[in-house]
Amino acid sequence: MAGAFGRYKGDAVFDKMRESCGVVGVFGHPEASKLAYLGLYSLQHRGQEASGIVSFDGTAFHLEKAIGLVSDVFSKSRLSRLRGSSAIGHNRYSTAGGSALENVQPIMVNYALGSLAMAHNGNLTNATVLRAELEAYGAIFQSTSDSETVIHLIAHSRQPYLIDRIVDALKRVQGAYCLVFLSNDGLVGVRDPYGVRPLSIGKVQGGYVLASETCAFDLIEAEYIRDVEPGEMVQITNKGLASFKPFAKTALAQCVFEFVYFSRPDSTIFSRPVYSVRKRLGRELARETAVEADIVIPVPDSGVAAALGYAEASPSLRYETGLIRNHYVGRTFIEPEQSIRHFGVKVKLNAVKEVLRGKRVVVVDDSIVRGTTGRKIVKMIRAAGAKEVHMRISSPPIISPCFYGIDTPNRQELVAATHSLEETRKYITADSLAYLSIEGMFRAVYGTASDKGTHFCSACFSGRYPIPLHDEKHVQMGLFDQTHLPVLN
Ligand code: 5GP
Ligand code: SF4
Ligand code: MG
Repeated sequence: MAGAFGRYKGDAVFDKMRESCGVVGVFGHPEASKLAYLGLYSLQHRGQEASGIVSFDGTAFHLEKAIGLVSDVFSKSRLSRLRGSSAIGHNRYSTAGGSALENVQPIMVNYALGSLAMAHNGNLTNATVLRAELEAYGAIFQSTSDSETVIHLIAHSRQPYLIDRIVDALKRVQGAYCLVFLSNDGLVGVRDPYGVRPLSIGKVQGGYVLASETCAFDLIEAEYIRDVEPGEMVQITNKGLASFKPFAKTALAQCVFEFVYFSRPDSTIFSRPVYSVRKRLGRELARETAVEADIVIPVPDSGVAAALGYAEASPSLRYETGLIRNHYVGRTFIEPEQSIRHFGVKVKLNAVKEVLRGKRVVVVDDSIVRGTTGRKIVKMIRAAGAKEVHMRISSPPIISPCFYGIDTPNRQELVAATHSLEETRKYITADSLAYLSIEGMFRAVYGTASDKGTHFCSACFSGRYPIPLHDEKHVQMGLFDQTHLPVLN
């Protein structure tokens, strides 16, 4: 868990929250690893640090993993080594543990029952406690990642079948997890009882596929069947799909930030199409924070759907494209010796002067984390000749870190945690700044649906943590088990 509060070192220019990871699993397809590769390619937005695939050919397991983007990690020759009709894969954005190669997933081990591979999306909240306990009994950890704890617990279990060992292990674990396992028998997928991260089931040419987001199914022409339910475990073998619900039922805590930012708009998450929710976030934002202006523009790409919703709900505003994004920006840039002001954001975004000149501009983005991007964008819009710049954010202020799989900066670095609204406005140099309310966000998430019992986690906006926090750092922060606090939706 060492890196949980560390700054992302690999990318000094875009110093942001780190995304949650992406996982895939394929069973019963002659080109399993190719499908896993394409699935990971569609899930690249969930993690860009490292990628890996494990396949099984009926006799042997094959593992390929490395630091880098999916398309860089998997060459043709590397993919051809991943033989077999089942595979699991992982995109990593280090949320716990460092960015070293030993932390790259899937994790692959040999233990009493044979070989086992595992990929994890999420973050455990009692991993340090469990790790200390396991180490006291002689366990030797190979990585600093919280996920390895699960593997050790499985190895220590006395149950005769893998499926029961996984249950044994997960009954000891607290936190957020979507897990895919690959063994000699088949594929297993599990979602924690709170349902924090998404995981969906699809069918492809007689085989099965599991993926963090449904956008992965579209590329490989898989048919979306349903989500793995919170607390559900699915086992996929030659006999088909079997479902188990081995865990005690609990209130749900699905991550609302998946709708705000993480998931791709072409995915359906927690039974809701992300694009529609995002547009509704924009509509609610317009209702709550209307301002006299001429045009509304998004910060691409994350603000596009919300800005469209904002424009739809604001008849007097014209929707325009005022910022253009360069989609081909790699991870490292060579800067000229004589430094260019705001190079980091300029290399990614540029203003369209003829759209902005002389205009009163509403600019919509999905979130403010540290505030540094917002500040640069406002300056860029003004430099292009805008008369007024009104920043509108389609989520509430982020005031607390996430401990469930998204590596938010620590509290001190979250601008809304340490500054008032007016101070933040001054910092980003906007004429006005307004966020969506928590109530408005949930109106957008629920839409017209009446399933108000489907609860979400909104801890980064509310500071109320729905899953107990057990690790020492949580105790030090005074956040130990807040589950007695009422949830806000
Ligand atoms: P800030 O400069 O305030 O830290 O960054 C705000 C911007 O970061 C917003 O445009 C938002 O889309 C983006 N953002 C929010 N969460 C994440 C994240 O987890 N990862 C990345 N790369 N960007 C994020
Ligand atoms: Fe999602 Fe925020 Fe909860 Fe983390 S704290 S799981 S980002 S809603
Ligand atoms: Mg953005």
